[in-house]
Amino acid sequence: MKVTEVDTPEHEEVVRFEDPATGLKGFIAIHSTRLGPAAGGVRMRPYGHEVEALNDALRLSRGMTCKNAAADLPLGGGKAVIIGDPSMDKTPELMQAFGRVVQSLEGRYWTAEDMGMTPADMAQIGTETRFVAGLADGAFASGDPSPVTARGIFNAIRTTARHRFGSRDLRGKTVSVQGLGNVGHHLCRFLHQAGAELIITDIDAAQVTRVAQEFSATLVAPDAIYEAQADIFAPCAIGAILNEASIPLFKVGAVAGGANNQLATEADGQRLHERGILYAPDFVANGGGIVNVATEILQIADREDWVAARLEALDRTMDRILSTAARLSVCPNDVAERIVHDILHQKAA
Ligand code: NAD
Repeated sequence: MKVTEVDTPEHEEVVRFEDPATGLKGFIAIHSTRLGPAAGGVRMRPYGHEVEALNDALRLSRGMTCKNAAADLPLGGGKAVIIGDPSMDKTPELMQAFGRVVQSLEGRYWTAEDMGMTPADMAQIGTETRFVAGLADGAFASGDPSPVTARGIFNAIRTTARHRFGSRDLRGKTVSVQGLGNVGHHLCRFLHQAGAELIITDIDAAQVTRVAQEFSATLVAPDAIYEAQADIFAPCAIGAILNEASIPLFKVGAVAGGANNQLATEADGQRLHERGILYAPDFVANGGGIVNVATEILQIADREDWVAARLEALDRTMDRILSTAARLSVCPNDVAERIVHDILHQKAA
């Protein structure tokens, strides 16, 4: 196993790892430990190029600093990426090798599930390190975070609906959902139960058929989701989908979803604002998952109450962000970034 440091200007610590014996290759990026040990999931994707994987780790770990601060958690921001196709390249040995890399950071980074990962993978990682959360078994095991993530996004959608359309009631509202994996599937269930109409898409045809049948949803092709006529668009797949090309196509009043790093650039927040599309900042909307994971890292005994209280607090934060953005007539993302900046600097003072 080879673990080498990567020099980057904005991050506290970045390592590249490569283990020819298991095929493990990727990066761990620690953006900030100002509020506590860095925490953020590990993602496995068949990145086209190593630079793409590194950039993902850098962006996602910065997002985790914002997410953990916005959720008022005593945790910093970090993220790991593994280069490979989870359906073909993932083996117990590869997961264990990744566990050894996490262990080598001696608790400065805690890992958990992200795209392409399951609680069973966390168990394999956990054979080599104790700095892993999202386990299915154990004293403080928190399991799959995605139902709590989806609950938080559902709250964010209702709060966004109140600001944009005057009511949290989703009956008769249409929500377009991109990505029907762990998060998207749970979210569709909450939305369906609340009486929303669903327009759905995924690149995995089996997921689309399953969700369409379960929730009487209308299905569209992956690229057609950006032009779907809906009240709210909920991105729950990949990042950077709010961009120069997609934003002009939107026929929605608001965007509120769970994917990380939805805005391709800061300018895209402004683009949405100029089009009158209300954007619920992703790192606040999807904070439920890390709240759930935090119960394991922080060894919280009354887990359910603690999570419920934190989800309510996140919802109030979203409400405050959207109110402030309306008052100042700015993009809500700018307000959310400012709140995080203030939290980080207060703690540092
Ligand atoms: P997942 O891998 O279970 O599901 C992602 C789904 O998106 C898959 O079904 C995949 O086929 C689909 N997809 C990928 N590219 C697509 C495209 N171009 N168009 C349409 N569908 C596409 O992942 P997940 O755990 O559901 O996470 C979804 C998003 O939410 C990710 O951005 C993740 O970082 C973020 N997130 C997840 C959690 C969590 O608790 N799992 C927490 C916070 C944020």
